[in-house]
Amino acid sequence: IVSLRDVQKSFGSLKVLDGVSFAVERGEVLAIIGRSGSGKSTALRCIDRFERVDHGEIVVCGHRVDSPDVDLRALRQDVGIVFQSYNLFPHLTIEQNITLAPCSVKRMALSQAKELARKVLAQVGLEEKLHAYPEQLSGGQQQRAAIARSLAMQPKVMLFDEVTSALDPELTAEVQRVIERLAAEGMTMVMVTHEMGFAKSIADRIVFMHRGKVHETGPASILTSPTTPELAQFVGTGD
Ligand code: ATP
Ligand code: MG
Repeated sequence: IVSLRDVQKSFGSLKVLDGVSFAVERGEVLAIIGRSGSGKSTALRCIDRFERVDHGEIVVCGHRVDSPDVDLRALRQDVGIVFQSYNLFPHLTIEQNITLAPCSVKRMALSQAKELARKVLAQVGLEEKLHAYPEQLSGGQQQRAAIARSLAMQPKVMLFDEVTSALDPELTAEVQRVIERLAAEGMTMVMVTHEMGFAKSIADRIVFMHRGKVHETGPASILTSPTTPELAQFVGTGD
């Protein structure tokens, strides 16, 4: 459902992605880990075409993302992305935040969009916050509302970039539970995370990025028995 083949991307003279390849099957959860600056966010952003690649092939839900004439609107309907900062519109209620895109992009009737808002808020356990404004929510609740907003577009794939890194442990656990529930419901997900315990428990596959390359990849067990010294050092089992 998502595949990257030999993806290369530079910012000026800095090569950030140096031949990245990986694939995600429908219903699979892939966790991307690695040091700061290894290219994790850039790889994720290329999937949703927030960055254009210099070389290589990216196919997402049948869209040729590397092609200049990819249908961005159709791509973004199939792919939801949630970042570290929640990016909710502060002047809109949670309900309005959620109904905005379905109404404008999908031309959904407002009554239907409101029904959908209730449904996706229930999925993240925030039904009672329908009429609240973002500033009235905790960080964890805002992040769950941001996930609900993405879900309202009924994406086929969800991308998460360090969605819990701005949260304290209790709120992190809240958001992780929501993501776990989505995984159990069969959502295809690609997540960048530095929470190794979470990656290990939720990911079907791990991609360890190092200097713009996929340095090691495999099932979650590579976190406990890494084969490369770089991953061993990253997870703290090396010397
Ligand atoms: P972190 O764990 O800190 O989020 P990351 O693995 O997500 O790191 P990226 O954000 O992909 O790393 O960045 C990889 C490299 O590309 C970094 O050196 C960064 O400075 C550089 N970079 C990212 N975006 C841009 C940009 N728009 N313009 C120039 N350089 C960029
Ligand atoms: Mg990043």
